[in-house]
Amino acid sequence: MSKHTNMQRDVLVLNLEEQLEGIAEEKYGKSLKECTDRETYFVLLDMTTRLMNVAEVYNGEKKVYYISMEFLIGKLLSNNLINLRVYDRVKAILEKNGKDLAVIEECEPEPSLGNGGLGRLAACFLDSIATLGLAGEGIGLNYHFGLFKQVFKDHLQNAEKNDWIEEQSWLEKTDTTFEVSFGDKKVVSRLYNMDVVGYDTGVNKLRLFDIESIDESLVKKGIDFDKTKIDKNLTLFLYPDDSDEAGNLLRIYQEYFLVSNAAQLILREQKERQYDLHELNNHAVIQINDTHPTMIIPELIRILVEEKAFSMDDAIDVVSKTCAYTNHTILAEALETWPLKYLEKVVPQLVPYIKELDKRVRAKYKNPKVQIIDKDKKVHMAFIDIHYGFSINGVAAIHTDILKDSELNDFYKIYPEKFNNKTNGITFRRWLLSCNHPLADFLSQTIGDGFKKDANKLEKLLDHINDEEVLDQLEAIKMGKKKELVDYLKKHENVEVDPDSIFDIQVKRLHEYKRQQMNALYIIHKYLEIKGGKKPSRPLTFIFGAKAAPAYVIAKDIIHLLLVLQEIVNNDPDVNKYMKVIMVENYNVSYAEKLIPACDVSEQISLASKEASGTSNMKFMLNGAVTLGTDDGANVEIHELVGDDNIYIFGVKADEVIEHYKKADYVSKDYYKKSKVIKEAVDFIVSKECLKVGHKENLERLYNELLNKDWFMTLIDLESYIAKKDEIFADYEKRDKWKKMMLTNIAKAGYFSSDRTIAEYNRDIWHLN
Ligand SMILES: *Cc1c(COP(=O)(O)O)cnc(C)c1O
Repeated sequence: MSKHTNMQRDVLVLNLEEQLEGIAEEKYGKSLKECTDRETYFVLLDMTTRLMNVAEVYNGEKKVYYISMEFLIGKLLSNNLINLRVYDRVKAILEKNGKDLAVIEECEPEPSLGNGGLGRLAACFLDSIATLGLAGEGIGLNYHFGLFKQVFKDHLQNAEKNDWIEEQSWLEKTDTTFEVSFGDKKVVSRLYNMDVVGYDTGVNKLRLFDIESIDESLVKKGIDFDKTKIDKNLTLFLYPDDSDEAGNLLRIYQEYFLVSNAAQLILREQKERQYDLHELNNHAVIQINDTHPTMIIPELIRILVEEKAFSMDDAIDVVSKTCAYTNHTILAEALETWPLKYLEKVVPQLVPYIKELDKRVRAKYKNPKVQIIDKDKKVHMAFIDIHYGFSINGVAAIHTDILKDSELNDFYKIYPEKFNNKTNGITFRRWLLSCNHPLADFLSQTIGDGFKKDANKLEKLLDHINDEEVLDQLEAIKMGKKKELVDYLKKHENVEVDPDSIFDIQVKRLHEYKRQQMNALYIIHKYLEIKGGKKPSRPLTFIFGAKAAPAYVIAKDIIHLLLVLQEIVNNDPDVNKYMKVIMVENYNVSYAEKLIPACDVSEQISLASKEASGTSNMKFMLNGAVTLGTDDGANVEIHELVGDDNIYIFGVKADEVIEHYKKADYVSKDYYKKSKVIKEAVDFIVSKECLKVGHKENLERLYNELLNKDWFMTLIDLESYIAKKDEIFADYEKRDKWKKMMLTNIAKAGYFSSDRTIAEYNRDIWHLN
């Protein structure tokens, strides 16, 4: 089959121009030249879909199902063209017709089917699974609005719904429908497919389930809607505000909807291929992305027992050999536990199985800390995965060590052989080839094309570390990207930025553990220094992008502070020549693709032990930024790869932090009292300058939080952060040293290709043939 389809593909590719003209004529009755940008986008969408339709689909004897509540895929046009190897030709054809592909790309709406790193990882993994030619698919939900759209009003974050599904899109509606039963209702699902095309290879599918009865008009103001009308709201939003019971219940409905569909899809496929379900583990491996899809385990056991005549022992045995679990966090509040009574309401059919699984654990292990249902009748979802899955992996070396040694130590003692590490990665197709064409082209010229298929070949760049021409080129490419960003920020954020300034960027979800507030305190410190007459040798541009969960009050207060600082700093004539602050609106994948290539200093400043891996740190490194970070997550591995001279590490270490939590002996006020610099910066939050621009309530709450709680220990590292940051800014002036640091970071980034990560998953966990 593949030979034949490849020939079809070749014919399409050869006649690209006629193809495009033909589609334009067919759809709009005009020539390509006469199409509007939007029409051109739809013509390209059509053409790309046709190319993907004739690509090879992978179907091995065994297949991985990557189940996730989130796939933060971002826009697809540019990536699909690159992976189909037609990007340059399409670009040239458009140019001939007076069109700019970059402008056309802007017409695509962004599907925000994820919150941040975890969802973006799932998207990168799909790209790599296809690129490596492995049989695999993603299974997720087709949220109509995805993650909210962030809008700033009065220096506050507002949440609005985020439309992305259009009449014509990448979604292919299928005939597959399933029935999903909850305790109190039944719904009918429908499957939509999205093609995931590998780089110069075939395609896999992302399966997204939706319900037929969804009612978008349920959404009233912002993102408020009636959370109780499950048959109308089930797939409206990702992560509905879960601060109340109705939100929590809806979340469980969503999770069961996902796994019920996944189980039906997987079992149908086993049947079609006439596989024996007693050998399910030889034909399917289910990778559970964080605890959200955990119910796939009791659901499969239930179906095997009730519908396929399995004994309980046999069902548990084969399901346990089929499911593997990835842990993404050690934050206690993120390890899901559901009250048993919620599960009794939403999925009563699973409750006897969950109780049975718990009973078997209790019979074997007396330690209450490993039991699935605790004394308060809460179900610990991760514990189901650990007892009844065959693999548990962390997402960076230090994270896996913390799981083994402290967080999940009781489990590690029982199942040492199940634990393994898979350091995260990113797809270089999106985070280099697509977002930074000048750098990708330059690398091809300098070290050849090999790195596009084997990321380790980037190391060849080290041969040029003393080549001034190469170093100057890298600097020029960075400057070009900075200028592009300057234009974009002018247009979209209405701020003027000096491209000769240092671009210091922190973009990621807003969370206290990521410590955007520490960066804000540095900015205050710098502002006060400049006011006092101490000017930096070169202007500084501090850029942030972050969404806060709508129910996370302090996170929204931190956004408020950043927006207040932006207003004060950028409008102060004594200061704005030397520094600027920009909090970009609605940070998402597309924005990341513009910010990351333009970055000089990559801020990765989480409290050590708290960031499981991080992946933006890898994206920045690959694009020639230098990391300013703590010894946390994958920063540790970046540090090992580039060496002490090419990274700026500061702050207390993970074991110290863990000790502080154990002893509960961190007192933020002690740090505040001891240091004049810290006191000045913190006090500024409630100064008359800030109160004039911002809101008393938000600023005082944040001030009090920092002084009286500061759970993520901002003040413990503030002084060493200030010192390290001043050092990195001073080193920026040593241009020769800096350019070499840029080059080294790019050259050593190969390890962080998600192709490497997926090859390891396959080697150690999936064993696909
Ligand atoms: C990569 C990425 C993230 C993850 O960033 P971290 O700094 O690793 O938390 C979040 N959001 C978007 C849009 C991304 O592209």
